[in-house]
Amino acid sequence: MFKKLLIANRGEIACRVIRTAKQMGIATVAVYSDADAHALHVQHADEAVHIGGSAAKESYLLGNKIIEVAKSLGVDAIHPGYGFLSENADFANLCQANNITFVGPPVGAIEAMGSKSAAKKIMQEANVPLVPGYHGDDQAPATLKKHADDMGYPVLLKAAAGGGGKGMRQVWSANEFESALEAAKREAMNGFGDDHMLVEKYLTQPRHVEIQVFCDQQGNGVYLFERDCSVQRRHQKVIEEAPAPGMTEELRKQMGEAALLAAKAINYVGAGTVEFLLDSDGSFYFMEMNTRLQVEHPVTEMITGQDLVSWQLRVAHGEPLPLQQEELSINGHAFEARVYAEDPNNEFLPATGKLTYLQPPVENRHVRVDTGVLQGDEVSVYYDPMIAKLIVWDENRDKALTRLTKALSEYRIKGLVNNIPFLYNLASTSAFRNAELDTGFIDKHHDAIFVEQSKDIEKYLPMMAVALILDKQKQAENLIANHNNDPFSPWQLSNAWRANETHEQTLSLDVSGEIYTVSLMQLEDNASRNTAGRRFVVKAGEKTSQISAQIENDLLQLNIDGHRQTVTIANDDIGISLYTNELVIHFAEHKPDLGLDEDNEGNAGFTAPMNGTVVKLMVETNAIVEKGQPLMIMEAMKMEHALTAPATGKVTEFFYQVGDLVDGGAELLAFEAEEE
Ligand code: ADP
Repeated sequence: MFKKLLIANRGEIACRVIRTAKQMGIATVAVYSDADAHALHVQHADEAVHIGGSAAKESYLLGNKIIEVAKSLGVDAIHPGYGFLSENADFANLCQANNITFVGPPVGAIEAMGSKSAAKKIMQEANVPLVPGYHGDDQAPATLKKHADDMGYPVLLKAAAGGGGKGMRQVWSANEFESALEAAKREAMNGFGDDHMLVEKYLTQPRHVEIQVFCDQQGNGVYLFERDCSVQRRHQKVIEEAPAPGMTEELRKQMGEAALLAAKAINYVGAGTVEFLLDSDGSFYFMEMNTRLQVEHPVTEMITGQDLVSWQLRVAHGEPLPLQQEELSINGHAFEARVYAEDPNNEFLPATGKLTYLQPPVENRHVRVDTGVLQGDEVSVYYDPMIAKLIVWDENRDKALTRLTKALSEYRIKGLVNNIPFLYNLASTSAFRNAELDTGFIDKHHDAIFVEQSKDIEKYLPMMAVALILDKQKQAENLIANHNNDPFSPWQLSNAWRANETHEQTLSLDVSGEIYTVSLMQLEDNASRNTAGRRFVVKAGEKTSQISAQIENDLLQLNIDGHRQTVTIANDDIGISLYTNELVIHFAEHKPDLGLDEDNEGNAGFTAPMNGTVVKLMVETNAIVEKGQPLMIMEAMKMEHALTAPATGKVTEFFYQVGDLVDGGAELLAFEAEEE
């Protein structure tokens, strides 16, 4: 077996590979960028080497630099993870030229599948069924449009070099074609440096079902069954599961064999995934083959009981496949939910910042958390904003789904907007429980998934008020404790803190800008504070509640009018978060501003959502625009975001021009709404 493995990646997948390498007795080398100096993958590896700046192209994409590190440390194999260099044929070549094993398929297979259009040609010859479409070399817009017109709308434009749903656009009618093509090409050029496009018939309600294949150097191949990845946003996977609900043995065999046919057609070796669209009538079409380990590989591991990273390493070392097809079977059901720092209520815009509080559910044989971050880490603008993958397993789908919702309700994140409530709502819909899956799931069940949370807030006001007071008292006590060694510290006058808590006070609570007033009276000042809990009478609206409560570590134990409950509490500079079994509430104490002039009106909404680049100004200054009309297009995280007019009016000035880099929060333009 290999002696020393370098992992040319970061985050959860680097940690994942290191875990298996350690179990196999292989020494590990991590590489890291400036931003990742203290990252988990660096801590977990036996050795770690700094390779450059935070931007991926200054570090994780520097193939030569990584090879240099590998050679200087006597590394005999490189695992590329997913993303970055994992599907880069030049890099695989470079490894080979330096006598280092690339843990992945042969260069030829990567090249063959590297372009979606070239891949389709090969699959066509191998008789693998394809989605109808045009995947030719003539890229003249008129040619592409003609194919779309002939095929009939809707069609899907796809970047041949694409991945991660980028450079992809649905086109619903002929008159949208040109602008969609332009946008898709621009995204593809920015993302992949290549704007070659293909046009496909857009299937309106397919499922995304993919087959995990594995081939060894001896020419054997097996399939480790399927994953259903139909639940997607912006063509990117959100929740994956294995096996696919409703799959028949017969269809599974057909798809598995078609996938192996695809792999054999390119002399594949290692772990690969053949993605299909599955239509409601049971016909399936080849979409693409990913020549690497997938993000969602854990669900396959959970139902087969196999460690796919270990398979990868063994096969790369020249060993035959650990198991034959007949030896593989499906046990139970698994889900994976991708936990992201992003705002589902704002077009899933990625968020960056510090994870001030991070408490994943407890791991056991049913619950697995693959992550690369710890509390206190930053989610930076440089990389994918994934926080973790939450994976659950149980003996059937129903039980596994219950595990999923429970684990999601126990996942506590603060500091960054994240998709946990969205995932929870999604997994709780009856449609998801009934496995009514297709790639339009999120749109179709929009109302059930994006439920308004604040409706119930009033019910929680007493709990929030008590949490706020106890949190303040705890902080005051911590200050006192910290100053105990200093006899002259004013904090020593601790009595003062207690004396004025016994009278009634009015608190203003700010919940997403909505202000609520609560009055609260602390009944007595108990000397043995930590054991007995404190007692309050709280009046919120018409309702008066008797509450006793105490905080222990990050748990707030409450008895509200006889109802005992425990919620998790976390605080940071911004405010307090309470995690109950039903929902998460973020709030802060409202401090009325002291006449500071904060005139945000008018321009609100024209700030850059995050660091990015201006790619296009869509209107002339002072031209009248209609509500909803796009004004400017920004690119951030390789995705385009349009800023639209909030009302009829005009842009009086653009503060940035095309190509300018802007910081998140920067004012982008001045807009004047037309008087009614
Ligand atoms: P990427 O490589 O960017 O992930 P894929 O080709 O794998 O792109 O497609 C991603 C997703 O886009 C699919 O899972 C599916 O939901 C959707 N999709 C792709 N092609 C089609 C199509 N022809 N019709 C309908 N949906 C499609």
